[in-house]
Amino acid sequence: MNKPASVPEQVDAVVVGAGFSGLYMLYRLRQLGLSVKVFDSAGDVGGTWYWNRYPGARCDVPTTDYTFSFDPELEKEWTWSEKYATQPEILEYLRFVADRHELRSDIEFSTAVTAARWDEPAKQWVITTGGGREVRCRHYIMATGCLSVAKSPDIEGAERFAGPVYFTSRWPHEGVDFTGQRVAVIGTGSSGIQSIPLIARQASQLTVFQRTANFSIPAHNGPAPAETLRQLDEGRDAYRDAARWSRGGVPVEPTDVLAGAASEEVRRERFEAAWQQGELFGILNVFADQGVNPAANDIVAEMIREKIRATVNDPETAEALCPRGHYFGTKRPCLDTGYFETFNLPHVRLVDLRKEPIVSITEDGIETAGESFGFDTIVYATGFDAMTGALVGADVTGRDGLSLKEKWAAGPSTYLGLMTTGFPNFFMLTGPGSPSVLSNMAVSIEQHVDWVAGCLKDLRDKGLETIEPTELAEAGWNQHNQDCAAITLHPTANSWYMGANVPGKPRVFLPYIGGVGAYRQACDDVVTQDYLGFTRTGPGAVRCTDGVIRSMQPDVAMVMEFVNALGLPPMETLSAADARALMAATAENRPPGPEVGEVTDGVIPIPDGTLPYRLYRPAGPPEGPRPLVVYFHGGGWVLGNLDSDDPLCRDLCARSGAVVVSVNYRHAPEVRFPAAALDAFAAVQWADANAIELGGIPGQLAVAGWSAGANVAAVACQLARDAGGPRITGQLLICPAVDSDLTRPSYEENGDGYILTTALMRWFWDHYADPADRGDPRAAPLRGDLAGLPPACIVAADFDPLRDEGVAYARALEAAAVPVRLTRARGHTHTSVTMVDVIISGAPVRAEMAAALEDFFPAAEPQSSAAPQAHVS
Ligand SMILES: Cc1cc2nc3c(=O)[nH]c(=O)nc-3n(C[C@H](O)[C@H](O)[C@H](O)COP(=O)(O)OP(=O)(O)OC[C@H]3O[C@@H](n4cnc5c(N)ncnc54)[C@H](O)[C@@H]3O)c2cc1C
Repeated sequence: MNKPASVPEQVDAVVVGAGFSGLYMLYRLRQLGLSVKVFDSAGDVGGTWYWNRYPGARCDVPTTDYTFSFDPELEKEWTWSEKYATQPEILEYLRFVADRHELRSDIEFSTAVTAARWDEPAKQWVITTGGGREVRCRHYIMATGCLSVAKSPDIEGAERFAGPVYFTSRWPHEGVDFTGQRVAVIGTGSSGIQSIPLIARQASQLTVFQRTANFSIPAHNGPAPAETLRQLDEGRDAYRDAARWSRGGVPVEPTDVLAGAASEEVRRERFEAAWQQGELFGILNVFADQGVNPAANDIVAEMIREKIRATVNDPETAEALCPRGHYFGTKRPCLDTGYFETFNLPHVRLVDLRKEPIVSITEDGIETAGESFGFDTIVYATGFDAMTGALVGADVTGRDGLSLKEKWAAGPSTYLGLMTTGFPNFFMLTGPGSPSVLSNMAVSIEQHVDWVAGCLKDLRDKGLETIEPTELAEAGWNQHNQDCAAITLHPTANSWYMGANVPGKPRVFLPYIGGVGAYRQACDDVVTQDYLGFTRTGPGAVRCTDGVIRSMQPDVAMVMEFVNALGLPPMETLSAADARALMAATAENRPPGPEVGEVTDGVIPIPDGTLPYRLYRPAGPPEGPRPLVVYFHGGGWVLGNLDSDDPLCRDLCARSGAVVVSVNYRHAPEVRFPAAALDAFAAVQWADANAIELGGIPGQLAVAGWSAGANVAAVACQLARDAGGPRITGQLLICPAVDSDLTRPSYEENGDGYILTTALMRWFWDHYADPADRGDPRAAPLRGDLAGLPPACIVAADFDPLRDEGVAYARALEAAAVPVRLTRARGHTHTSVTMVDVIISGAPVRAEMAAALEDFFPAAEPQSSAAPQAHVS
C-alpha cells in the first residue's frame, strides 16, 4: 500500500472530501495502487456527520441500510445501536472505518480546495488549496457532498443580532446549552424538525419561524428493525444486492396498488402500516401512483394532515403546520420524534411566515410584519445550496478556460451525474443527474465509487490517459434526467431538489429520479458498450463510441418491460379472431380516458350496409356547433374497433374541443383492400353531408387516424381531392402506415420488441392487400399524387417501425407544397402515444396533436390564420 510520508506535489488522484464518498474512494484508489491525496476543510473524517452536530441530528434511512457494504468484516464488527442512529454514532462509525483501513495518512484535514484547473498540455489537473499550495494530479474527484454548503439565511438585518447565532450545519463541537433562554429557530426542514423538540426541552421560550410547513412522519425510533436484521442474518449479500437494484437503495418491494382503485379501507390500512413503520421509503410507497398522480397524492397528503390535526391541540397552529401547496414527496419528507407534539408545550410557539413574514432581524430579536420578538439566541436551520453548491463553489476550470460555474449557469449538465464535457478526468461523486439525495446515499456512493474505480482501472489497462463525455451523450442524459422528472409531480414544487431554495439558482430538477437500480443498469450498460458516450485518449490513441444510453421515455420503457414480461404470443402467429380477442383482453383494465360531454353511437349507411360510428362531443361551453374530426382507429386493417381507440378519441375530443366521430370501417381478412379505404372516404362524405346533425360546423371537417387508421385517413384525403370534395381542412396522421415497402431503416431498428413488430406489419399487409395491390396509392398513399392535399400533422415515434415512412410522407407532402407539421414523439413507440392515462409522457404529444387539430380549423376570423405553418424538422 502506497502511503507517502510527506505531501507529494504530484499524485495520481486528488479527492476532495472525507465523508462517506471520499473515504471509500480513497480505499478503492489505493487498491488500484494509485497515489492519492484527500483534502477536507473539516478537522476530521465524517463529512455531513462531522459538521451537522445539532441536537437530534440523525439519519433518516435506517442505519442498517445506511452503511457501507464493501467490507463484510466491517459489517460483522460494527453493530448499530438504533434504527436511526444519532450523529455522534455515525461519526464514530466513519472514524472506525478510517482507522480500520488506515485511511487518515492520505487525508489532509482543515484544508480547503479553492481552485482546480485542467492543464491540457500536461493532461493534468492543478489543484490549489486554501494556503495557495498546488498539487498536480491526473484525476480529480470531487467527493464534496450534496448537502455540504449551508445556505446563507438571506434575511434583512441578520448580521445585526447581538446574541449567539447557530447554524445546524455548522454546530459547535462542544454543544449548546439553551437552558433558560429565549430561542428562535428559523426553518422547518429536516434539521429544524429534528432539533426543535430537543431545543424545546431546554429553552424557556421557543419560537419557530416557519415559511413552508413540511410533511413529517414519526420515526418510531428504537432498536434496529428485527425484520432487516433477520434478512441480513439469513443472507447479507442477497440483502445488499437487493438494495443495489432497488428504487431507492433500500430493499422495498414497490407496490402496485393504485390509490384511486383501492377501497377506503385498503387505503387506510396501507397508510397506517406505513405510518407505524416510520420509514421514508414506506410512506413514499403507500400507492404506486402517489408520485405521479395529483389525486393519489392528495389522498396520502390528507391522511398525513389528519394526523397533524389529531396531534396538535390548538386548531390554528395545527392548520399552520399542515403542509399545503406542494405534493407530498416533492419536497424531502422528514422523520421526526415528537415534532408536532412539541407545539402543545406552553412555551413553544409557531410563527407562520406566509401570514406574517420576517421584516428584519434586530439587535435583540426578530421583527415580523405583525410583531416584535425578543430573543437571546437564534438558530438557523435554513438548509443547503444542494447538489451543486460545493461543486461550483470550488472554482473548477476545464479545457479552454471554461469554468464549471459558467458551464452550469443555466443548470448543471452531466453525463450520468459523474462527469461533464470539457472537464477531462474530472469526476463527481453523487453529482447532479445521479440518484444521490433521492436514495439511500450509502448505496449510491458505493456504486459511484466502484464505477469510477473501474473506469480508472480500465483506462490504465488500455494505456489510456483521459476520459470525457461526448456532447451527444451528455445532452442525451440531461434529457433523460428531465424526462424522468417530468412524469412525476416533483417539478411542480419549489424544492431544493429544483434549486428553488437559493435565490438566483436555475430551476432544474437536480437528482436522477429513475431509481437506483435503473441508474446502476445504465452505468453498467455504458461500460459494457465500451464506455458508450465517452471519448478516451492516450498516446497516439483516441477511442470513442458515441451515443445516447437512454432515449426511450422512462414510462414507455416500464410499460415495454411489463408487456414483454407477460410473454404474450406474437400476434402474427395467431388467427385474426384470436388476435382480436387478445387485443380486447389486454385493453380490459386500461384507464377509460377523460370525461367528455356526450358519447353516442350510431351507424353510417354505405352501399354495402352500414358502418358503426361513435360520436364524442366535448363538455362545457361554448354551446352550439364545433369543428368535426372523423377519426379512424388503428389495428392494421385487421384489428380494432370503436372500443379499441375510445380513450384516445376522448382525449382528442377533450383537448381539441372538436366533435370527434370515430368510424369502424370494414376489416380484413373478411373484407380486403380497398374496402377499408373506400369506407373511410364514404364516412367522410357522410360526415360532411350531415355536419349540422352531428353538431359540426359545415366546412370545418378534418380527418385523423392512427396507424392503419391514418392510412385510410390519408387515402380519404386523396380520394376527396380527386372527387372534388368534400373539402377536408386538415389531416392528423398518427404513426401512419403510408407505404408497403418494409425495408426502411426503422423496420430494422425498431423491428422487434416494441409491440408493433416488422413481422406483425407483414402479417397485416398479407391480410389486407394482395402484393399486386400494395403499390396502389389507395393502399400506399405515399405513392400517390400529393399535390393539393389538406394541411397535415404527422406524428412519428422514435421507436416505431413506421417512423421512417411517416417522415417520408411529411417530406413528400412538403415537396408537394402541402403545409406539414411533423411532430416527433420523442422516446415513444407506435402504441405508447395512444396509451391515455397510462403513459404520462405521451400527454404532451397528444397536446400537440390537439393543437394541430385546432390549427386546421379557421378561427371565426381572420380566415388566413387557419393554415398551419410548414415546419418539417
Ligand atoms: C442532517 C443530515 C442527515 C442526513 N441523513 C441521511 C440519511 O439518513 N440517509 C442518506 O442517505 N443521506 C443522508 N444525508 C445525506 C448525506 O449528506 C449523505 O448521506 C452522505 O453523508 C454524503 O457523504 P459525502 O461523502 O458524499 O459528502 P459529505 O458527507 O457532505 O462530505 C463532503 C465533505 O467535503 C468537504 N468539502 C466540500 N467542499 C470542499 C472543498 N472545496 N475543500 C475541502 N473540502 C471540501 C466537506 O467539508 C465535507 O466534509 C443527510 C444529510 C444531512 C445534512
